[in-house]
Amino acid sequence: MSVIDEVLEANRQFAGSFSGQDLPNKPAKGLAVVCCMDYRIPISQALGLQNGDAVVIRNAGGIITEDTLAALLVAHYKLGVTDIMIINHTQCGMMTFNDQELVEFLEKETGQTAVIPAHFHTFNDLEANLRRQFRRLESHVWIPKDLKVRGFIYDVKSGQLTEVRPE
Ligand SMILES: [Zn+2]
Repeated sequence: MSVIDEVLEANRQFAGSFSGQDLPNKPAKGLAVVCCMDYRIPISQALGLQNGDAVVIRNAGGIITEDTLAALLVAHYKLGVTDIMIINHTQCGMMTFNDQELVEFLEKETGQTAVIPAHFHTFNDLEANLRRQFRRLESHVWIPKDLKVRGFIYDVKSGQLTEVRPE
């Protein structure tokens, strides 16, 4: 049985006792969370969130990419999100290689050159990366100044969030 078959079996059990049919059609807490896709970060449990509470946007690194921005603009203007948390974390895999190394590896591995993705958004300095994401978001012309944006580092060894203040 493949892993996808395994999770489909789990979904049958989930749907058999489903109780989420009455969730609101907007995030109840008006919160959006941008976080690395790292499998060690259980966002809902770590933040005490229930289904329906928040919009969660995840990618490799917890990066404010064009896609992330699009999602956040929808979250604010269409879903009423007023508060945004950006979460990066210790031991992030995106600090273990750089964009150029990965592109060279992929070109060698496949024998092909590709135009996109143009960036993988790797980084060396965790706090500096988080502050960069913060600036990318706050400086965007469609992001209103009264939107509350805060950045945090999640420690994968303790589960603790530490706030990083913008400089
Ligand atoms: Zn990560």
